[in-house]
Amino acid sequence: MKKKKVVVIGSGFSALSASCYLAKAGYDVQILEKNYEIGGRARQLKKEGFVFDIGPTFYWMPDVFERFFNDFEKSPGHFYDLIKLNPAYRVYFGKNDSISIADNLAEIKRTFESIEKGSARKLEKFISLAKKNYDLAVKRLVYEPGENLLEIINMQTIIRIKDFFRSIQMQVGRYVKNKKLRSILEFPVLFLGAKPSNTPSFYNFMNYADFGLGTWHPMGGMYKVIKAMASMALQLGVEVRTNDPVRSLVIEDGQVKKVKTANGSYDCDIVLSGADYHHTETLLPLEFRQYPESFWKKKIFAPSALLFYVGFDKKMKNVSHHTLFFDTEFEAHAKTIYDTREWAEKPLFYGSFPSITDQTSAPEGREAGIFLIPIAPDLKDTPEIREQYFDQIIQRLEFLTDQKVAEHIIFKESYCINDFKADYNSYKGNAYGLANTLRQTHVLRPKLKSKKLRNLYFCGQLTVPGPGVPPSLISGKIVSDLISKYH
Ligand SMILES: Cc1cc2nc3c(=O)[nH]c(=O)nc-3n(C[C@H](O)[C@H](O)[C@H](O)COP(=O)(O)OP(=O)(O)OC[C@H]3O[C@@H](n4cnc5c(N)ncnc54)[C@H](O)[C@@H]3O)c2cc1C
Repeated sequence: MKKKKVVVIGSGFSALSASCYLAKAGYDVQILEKNYEIGGRARQLKKEGFVFDIGPTFYWMPDVFERFFNDFEKSPGHFYDLIKLNPAYRVYFGKNDSISIADNLAEIKRTFESIEKGSARKLEKFISLAKKNYDLAVKRLVYEPGENLLEIINMQTIIRIKDFFRSIQMQVGRYVKNKKLRSILEFPVLFLGAKPSNTPSFYNFMNYADFGLGTWHPMGGMYKVIKAMASMALQLGVEVRTNDPVRSLVIEDGQVKKVKTANGSYDCDIVLSGADYHHTETLLPLEFRQYPESFWKKKIFAPSALLFYVGFDKKMKNVSHHTLFFDTEFEAHAKTIYDTREWAEKPLFYGSFPSITDQTSAPEGREAGIFLIPIAPDLKDTPEIREQYFDQIIQRLEFLTDQKVAEHIIFKESYCINDFKADYNSYKGNAYGLANTLRQTHVLRPKLKSKKLRNLYFCGQLTVPGPGVPPSLISGKIVSDLISKYH
C-alpha cells in the first residue's frame, strides 16, 4: 500500500521530533525548511574558529531527551557526550557579589543556609513538592494533546487545585525571605515565558528540573542535538529540503491538497507545520484560518531577545559557563517586557561562555561569549539601539566581574527582533513563542489539530505543551500520535 505523505513545514526541534515519529509510524515524510540550514531557533553560528549556539543553551530535563531517543532504541550517548555542569550557573547581584548553584541539592542547601538561616530545610521541602509536580506534569500531563480538559483532570490534579491559582512568586515568598534566594527560585519559570507573579505555582516543577536534575551541556553545543535528530530522521527515510520556504497552502474539499513553495509545489495527504503558528495561518485563505488577528493580539507572548555572539581574545575570569546578571531590579525590567512594552533602562542579562567547558566552541586561549537580554516582542530594533545595549552590558560585565573586557573583543554579531521575523517568520519577533500562563495552558493554547481543515496540524512552541526545547520534543511526539489517531 502506498504510504501517506506528510509534508512538514520547518525543521526546528518540534518538526524534527514529529518527523522521526511519523517516519517510524510508516508515513512518507518530507520536510520543507525556508532557511539554508536546519534547526530553526537552535541553529549555529560559526566565525573565525568560534562556534555559537544561536538560540537555546540550557540543556534541562535530560530525562525528556532520553525518553525521545529511547523511543527509537537509541540514547543521547549514541550521538553526543553530555556533561553535568558544576556550577550549574552563577548569579551576579553586584560587584564581587555572586552566588553559584552547585550540581547537587546537598550543596545548594548549604549555600542557601549560609545566606538565610533555616532556609536549607525549607528548600528541601519546596524541592520535594516540586519533584511531585515534576513527576505528574513532565512524565504525564505534558504528553496530553490538549484536546479536552478531561485529559488532565484526575485526583492528583484536583488535590493540587490551589497550585493553579497561586503564583510561583507567592509560593517562593513563603519558603524564603532573602531577595537574592527568591530571585534564584523564581528564575526557572522565566523559561516558560511569563512573569513569576503570573505563573501558577504548579510550575514549580521547573525548580526540580533546576536543582533536582541539574544543568547539562552536550559537548559540541545544543546544535549536536539537532544534528542527532536529523541523522535519525534521515535514517528513518525522511527527506529534507532546505532553502525552500512555503508560500501557501492550497485547499480543496476541506483539506490541504498542495503545499506551494518558492521552488515548486508538493502534493500531500497531511500537512504538519512546525513553523510559528500565526505565520502558518497566514499561508491559508482567510476563511480557513482559525484564529483572527485579535486573538493573537490579546495573547501573552514570551519575550523576544537581543543577543550578541562575541569572540574574545582571552579567557574570562570570574564567570561560569552560564552566568546570570541580576544586578538590577527584575520587577522594573519585567514591567517593560509585559506591561509598558518598551526598552528597559537597565535590563537583567544572561551570559554564556561555553568554551569554559567545551573546547570546540573557541580557539585555544580564547573565549566564546553569548549574551542575551530578554525584551518585549515587536520593539523598535535598530543598529544604534543594539550598540547602546552592547556597550551597557560590556561595561556592567567589566564592573561586576572585575576585569577588562571591551579591549579583548575580536568580533561581535548581534541578533534581535528584525532577525527573528526575517529568519523564522516569528510573530512580532518573539523568541520563545507563547507564554505558559494559567489562561494559556493545555486546552487554552492554539490547537495541535486545525479546527477547519481535516489534514492540517501544528506543533512547536506556540502550541501544546509550550516553549523550550524539551516541550518542543514532546510537541512533536504528541502531534504525531494525533496524526496516527486520525489518519
Ligand atoms: C535566544 C533563545 C534562547 C533560548 N534558550 C533556551 C534554552 O536555553 N533552553 C531551552 O530549552 N529552550 C530555549 N529556547 C527555546 C527553544 O529554543 C525553542 O522553544 C525551540 O527551539 C522552538 O522549536 P520549534 O520547533 O517550536 O520552532 P523553531 O525552532 O522556530 O522552528 C520553526 C522552523 O520553521 C521554519 N519556517 C518558518 N516559516 C517557514 C516557511 N514559510 N516555510 C518553511 N519553513 C519555515 C523556520 O525557519 C524554523 O526552522 C531559546 C530560544 C531562543 C530563541
